[in-house]
Amino acid sequence: MRSGTNLPRVRDYNQGVVLEAIRVGSGVSRVEIAENTGLTAQTVSNIVRRLLDDELVIEDGVDPSGRKPRVKLRIKPDSRYAIGALIDRDETSLVLMDLDGRIVGRESRPVDQQQGAQGVLDQVAEATQTLVQNAKVDPSKLLGVGLGCPGPMDHEQGILYEPLDLFGWNWHEVALKQDLSGRIGLPVIVDNDATAAAVGERWVGGAQGVRNFAYIFMSMGLGAGIFIENQLYRGDTTNAGELGHMTINIDGPLCFCGNRGCLEIYSSPVRILTEVRHRLKQGEPSSLAALLDVTLPDIRRAAMNGDPLALEEVRYSARMLANGVVNMVSLLDLRLVVLGGRHLAEVGPIYKQEVERALNNRLLTRNLRRVNVELSVAGRDAGAVGAAALVLHEIFAPRMTELNMVSQF
Ligand SMILES: [Zn+2]
Repeated sequence: MRSGTNLPRVRDYNQGVVLEAIRVGSGVSRVEIAENTGLTAQTVSNIVRRLLDDELVIEDGVDPSGRKPRVKLRIKPDSRYAIGALIDRDETSLVLMDLDGRIVGRESRPVDQQQGAQGVLDQVAEATQTLVQNAKVDPSKLLGVGLGCPGPMDHEQGILYEPLDLFGWNWHEVALKQDLSGRIGLPVIVDNDATAAAVGERWVGGAQGVRNFAYIFMSMGLGAGIFIENQLYRGDTTNAGELGHMTINIDGPLCFCGNRGCLEIYSSPVRILTEVRHRLKQGEPSSLAALLDVTLPDIRRAAMNGDPLALEEVRYSARMLANGVVNMVSLLDLRLVVLGGRHLAEVGPIYKQEVERALNNRLLTRNLRRVNVELSVAGRDAGAVGAAALVLHEIFAPRMTELNMVSQF
């Protein structure tokens, strides 16, 4: 449990700490919050009063055990909502999420490369409207939109800088935050897709309360979101976690980023698709041979059904990814690695096995403690859920930056 501070000028930070305590320990009492966070009873009481006034929290019955009966506190899930949108190379997906991380609506649209950035943003704006209307949510309860997409970007300004990728997008310095906010009239937060997924896992998933963890996000590309000492680590230009462009072979093939032998060349779903198609052309036996145009979902299904060709390529990708994860865990000393994103939502078990095996056999600290490897609980929605969680994180999570700012007074 995170500690609060009783110093003045840290109201927002403490509110985040209390809200987190209520969210994680559903049914917790004021006394327990004070015990768990180190805040004074008076501070907790004041903050809870504010949260009750704002209808973010409700009093929900009494716990009669103990010397004095204690009123139980819970988050009021339908008091606020956040929208999450993930822009991927082939589709945009959106979710509408309540404060408890429950998904109350979903929309998705195929992305056409010819649309250009403004066309895709038009599409996101339209899908946002449809999402809210269909879910019949009062627009005044909307906190904002989180937008996740592949980087590089300036998270604070919400500007996307030339996402170099295989699909030939030509998006240069797109003011995602400003352009989307102008279309929908809500605050917008933009972040890297992998970072968003890590925040989502923190909010709704298995990484609650884990101090040091990484989220490996694999959809069409590959990236990582990182939490260090309970804080989201964004890095100096807000582009930390470009795991896919970690060099694993300096003499390797040229990557679209301009370097050689990047991890993504060996492990991305794009490589799996290329290799499987090539081998099928060579006439190798496979259950996929009967299909006219083999797609990634076909390959993923075949791999999970044990088709030897599909399985071999997916397992190769998993082994290469496991290499990168060992390097990353060695550098950062993590407790937990979460695997998620569209690709891993379908073939995650194969990757989990390989990543676990590599960490258990190769990590220098392997005899000290095992690193947990988990599949993301958000499944296919991980990116969009993460994007929605960005909004909640921005408003409600206790963040050290606020404290650092305070210490300058
Ligand atoms: Zn690269």
